[in-house]
Amino acid sequence: MIYGVISDVHSNYEALSAVLDYLEDLGVGGWICCGDLVGYGPDPDACLDRIRALPNLSIICGNHDLAVVERLELDWFNQYARAAVMWTREHLSPSNRAYLEGLTARIETPNFTLAHGTPRNPPEEYLLSPLQFRDNVALVNKWPLFVGHSHMPLLFRFVEGSPDQVDTHFLEDKEESLPRLHGGVMGPVALNPGSVGQPRDQDNRASCGLYDSEKGTFRVFRVPYDISGVQAKIRAAGLPEYLALRLAYGQ
Ligand code: ZN
Repeated sequence: MIYGVISDVHSNYEALSAVLDYLEDLGVGGWICCGDLVGYGPDPDACLDRIRALPNLSIICGNHDLAVVERLELDWFNQYARAAVMWTREHLSPSNRAYLEGLTARIETPNFTLAHGTPRNPPEEYLLSPLQFRDNVALVNKWPLFVGHSHMPLLFRFVEGSPDQVDTHFLEDKEESLPRLHGGVMGPVALNPGSVGQPRDQDNRASCGLYDSEKGTFRVFRVPYDISGVQAKIRAAGLPEYLALRLAYGQ
């Protein structure tokens, strides 16, 4: 099966539709979404309606989704994130709110594991270091592990032939072969497809991934979208100006 992998859409419909159109053309048969569907951006309902219609969808929620449905305290959100959460609460349809309420921040399927941040603290911890990868390995039964949250396209795996060392690197537009164990079972590897709706690696194009479970490969793609159109909607909605500006810089 070929899966389209998306994360951190953050109510950015222009970025989402650009990414979905791009991945659909590559023959995707299933979808993986690592959470933070809403927050920051101006189109929560349009994004949720489109995501909910995806076939063979495995999906979790993120910290922003939990905050919108009042399952996570706003204390540690910065002022811009908090303003967007409050705005989203007022503008989300009852149906989409109920959908978010039904999601969890971590799931395991027969084929892979999803956690928004990390398996040990799914809604809040950022998976950024080799030590964190190592600490979380025992908590995962089905690899690959797909994560989001940091808005950075990243890979974590053990170095082949020297299992004490963790290989961590940024993912660019290049196919990665994933580790296999005896019998062809997928070995420990964590993959972050980057953020669809608010990339933070200085590249302002939407980020997404393609997972081929038969070939055992993963590839990140960057897709241009109408940034100025989203900025205009953010301003028209009365959301903080900073949330419009940062999209142009990819941060
Ligand atoms: Zn996020």
